[in-house]
Amino acid sequence: MIKVYKNFLSEIECHKLMAFVNENIDAWKDYPDSNIKVYGNSYFRHLLETGFDESAAGKLYSETAGIDSEEYRELLLSKFSALYKEVSFIDGFSIPGFQIVEQETPRVWHYDDEKLRYPYKTAFSDYDNSRYFDRWITFTIMLSDGDFQYDYYSETESVYSEHPEYYCRKHHGLIGDSCNCDLKEYATIKYSVGDMIHADGRYLHRVGQSSYTNDKRITIQGHIVTKGSVAYMYW
Ligand SMILES: [Zn+2]
Repeated sequence: MIKVYKNFLSEIECHKLMAFVNENIDAWKDYPDSNIKVYGNSYFRHLLETGFDESAAGKLYSETAGIDSEEYRELLLSKFSALYKEVSFIDGFSIPGFQIVEQETPRVWHYDDEKLRYPYKTAFSDYDNSRYFDRWITFTIMLSDGDFQYDYYSETESVYSEHPEYYCRKHHGLIGDSCNCDLKEYATIKYSVGDMIHADGRYLHRVGQSSYTNDKRITIQGHIVTKGSVAYMYW
């Protein structure tokens, strides 16, 4: 289920976090082959950088420092405690980080299947497969001012599994809407500063249209897996 939490962060919190990201401009890293930058240790970035070589990406991930701010960690824990009984970070994994987009970037339909490639076994020795966790969530919190949209096909809702099934294989990686499959009407969610998109489960989705043009679009990006009563955050 996809849900929007309006004003999950206050405007003041968002402005403070934007200032924090801008103060640390020297620590921003490029996403390979794009105009996207990240601040924090993103496993997905390492996957892209290493041509989806999981062990090389895992090595980089474990050797790269994440965001070192006690205040930011505390803020995440306290905000998510309103949604989950117990919230924790995963030992050895990095905490949710920031994505900085400096220009409009192609809006690509995709699933967040990269989550399955994280080295969960290093933190959970009895991890065997995707059914180990009860829920798989990806969230985006908008920090920038503007009107933003998120598009998804509700009929593609599925669970994360080791061998993902695609509603339409051609749609994963598609730019634009031209496809001869039966996916026609997608749903659009609107969100703005402080709002969080919380996607529980697997969906074909993309970044939707926005009113922002020249300003940087900054978001907090992260994942959550739950096991029993504990929600584990990571990126
Ligand atoms: Zn299609």
